[in-house]
Amino acid sequence: MGVVDRVSSPTTRFLSSKRRDRSGSRIGVLRSKTGTGRLLALAVVLTSFFGTTGWGNFQDISYKVKPVDGSLWSRLHGRGATIKGRDAEREIMFTFDDGPDHRSTPLLLDQLDRYGIKAVFFVNGHRMHSRRLDAAENIEVLRDIHRRGHIIGNHTYNHRDLSTLTDEQIRSEVDTTSRLVEKITGQRTWLFRPPFGKIGGASRYLSQAGYTVMMWSLDPLDWQTDDPQAVYRAVIDRLNKQPNGGIIDLHDTNRASVEAFPLIMEWIGQRNAELISSGEPIYRVVGVEAFYRRGGRRR
Ligand SMILES: [Zn+2]
Repeated sequence: MGVVDRVSSPTTRFLSSKRRDRSGSRIGVLRSKTGTGRLLALAVVLTSFFGTTGWGNFQDISYKVKPVDGSLWSRLHGRGATIKGRDAEREIMFTFDDGPDHRSTPLLLDQLDRYGIKAVFFVNGHRMHSRRLDAAENIEVLRDIHRRGHIIGNHTYNHRDLSTLTDEQIRSEVDTTSRLVEKITGQRTWLFRPPFGKIGGASRYLSQAGYTVMMWSLDPLDWQTDDPQAVYRAVIDRLNKQPNGGIIDLHDTNRASVEAFPLIMEWIGQRNAELISSGEPIYRVVGVEAFYRRGGRRR
């Protein structure tokens, strides 16, 4: 059941805009055919009570994000650049850390496909360590992330605080993961996210190795709870405080975060309907290329 199902009624219709944004994403636009906000609100309330009506199809208001070649973007703009996502313009990008996890990541992959969204997965090499009983399953999930067109970023091998490591240990954490991902997917990693957001003395090496560091600007601390509603509320709270959006940091290892994802998408759909009726710019779900824009300015 999606919000789009709820708000799509005989009185409203979703039209796909032919407009393409800078990043090439197709923007789904919702318009009320009758312009009667009251009817729309009534439909939302009624269908909230009675569940999905089967009207409409949220594919019509999807936030399609095209797969991009992460290596291409990094080659153009990488080498020490840091992306923070703080100057988003009603843009939201989803990033998921600490996986892959064969118990929860596949559910997320299906949800992302459902909405036509490409995300960035910052993975930890240790999840595919040969001594782990579930290594083979996690490897298969990593392959699937790549196959479905998402970008895989490097989040170190052991998820250790880089500020406590020697240069040699830092190189090992980065390179072992890079080699592993390349062996499994055929593509090396170009984006890097430091565990705990602590880059320590790693900047120089990451720059030498051609990495772009990607931080985040919306942190719902999703790993602290196993309640999807709490994750959802935390994300909405951050978005209300930073209405221009940004890079959301979630964890696909946390089942609650995976279950919160469609709730967040429903909220975005609903919020966009409100923004359209008040004539404001709507939210777009974007891929990494949106944050490399303007010549890869370092933000
Ligand atoms: Zn992490």
